[in-house]
Amino acid sequence: MPALPLHADTAELFNITGMLAGIEASGGISRALLAKKLGLSRTTASTIVSRLLAAGLVAERSSDEGPRPEARADGRGRPGILLDLDTQRWFALGAEFHSGHWAFAITNLKGGIVASATRPVPEEGPESFLSTLVEGLKEAMLLCPGELLPAIGIGAPGLVDCGSGRIIRADDLGWNAVPVGETVSAALGLETYVINRNRGSGLAEARFGAGKGVHGLVYIGIGTGISAAFVSDGSLLHGSSYSAGEIGHVVMDAEGPVCRCGKRGCLQVLSSGLAMARRASALIASGRPSSLELIPASQMRGEEVCAAAAEGDSVAAQSLKEAASYLGLAVANIVTTFNPDKVILGGPVGQVEGPYLELVKAEAARWAMDYPFQAVRIERGHLGEFAGALGAACLVLDRKLALALGTR
Ligand SMILES: [Zn+2]
Repeated sequence: MPALPLHADTAELFNITGMLAGIEASGGISRALLAKKLGLSRTTASTIVSRLLAAGLVAERSSDEGPRPEARADGRGRPGILLDLDTQRWFALGAEFHSGHWAFAITNLKGGIVASATRPVPEEGPESFLSTLVEGLKEAMLLCPGELLPAIGIGAPGLVDCGSGRIIRADDLGWNAVPVGETVSAALGLETYVINRNRGSGLAEARFGAGKGVHGLVYIGIGTGISAAFVSDGSLLHGSSYSAGEIGHVVMDAEGPVCRCGKRGCLQVLSSGLAMARRASALIASGRPSSLELIPASQMRGEEVCAAAAEGDSVAAQSLKEAASYLGLAVANIVTTFNPDKVILGGPVGQVEGPYLELVKAEAARWAMDYPFQAVRIERGHLGEFAGALGAACLVLDRKLALALGTR
């Protein structure tokens, strides 16, 4: 359907933006209270509400959660009617790459996932990664139960320049200069927003999961690599050039193994899923028996090491313990410097049930400054495998007003 033309001057646009944000933050608010909170006249507020209703961004519901009433043409509404985001009309699409596959999620305007899918990337290397993404997005679009906001959010591995939509480098995979946003925009004709996958997952946990309402939050995603999201009062910190959170390349041991970034002893060569798998493979090669010996060394993943450790496999347990000791030290240093209220472990490795979380906690307790450590909670993420896709969709949701009104 055609976008609603927006003939708004700056003040009007400011009011529309404020009103939509107010409705979203409230989770359901009456016209009168909203107008009062924003310092708007009832007439101005009613005019704006009418436009938001017509654009399908806002819907009315009764305060007793009963069936949705019809909106009145004058936008004034009746007593007992609350304004809330419309969860039926517009949807957002997000994608994220982890564990050798793309995960896709379609969400309503409140971030509720209404459809999801995964698609394995058949070959190593950025070409297969990009072509699978484009094909998967085309298929995912068919799952949308309504109208898609005309943009796509993508969570990609490595250091991502959010301005250009390119992966600058993904050292765990050995990739450089991968034009993710450009490729998707050219193939689908849609605006594309690209973010580091763990920054995306952290954003989703901050809004909808284990980090909801948390003031100072650190999300650490552990998979083939390691990176983090630093979130302050719901806002993701990007840093000067989008590399805030690149803890995978913090040097933990200057004499340690060489990282693909060129330095030695980076956290991710010591503690990532790949590091766990490398350790387990080396122990198996030295003759130690393990349930993991059935998996070829080149195909072993950290998730499998974690799962085997939870089952009592001693090779897996040793590999996990060594990896967790470095991550615990890194968490301790983050707790001491950032003083977060919560640290969330996530990603394919971080979300596996088992001894990992407790090992990291114990090591963090050993090395962190006591005072900030007393204030922090360390736990697993709540959102599971589609956290990154949901976080990527949040980038689209954040622009819903302009996208729905066609004013971007
Ligand atoms: Zn490195």
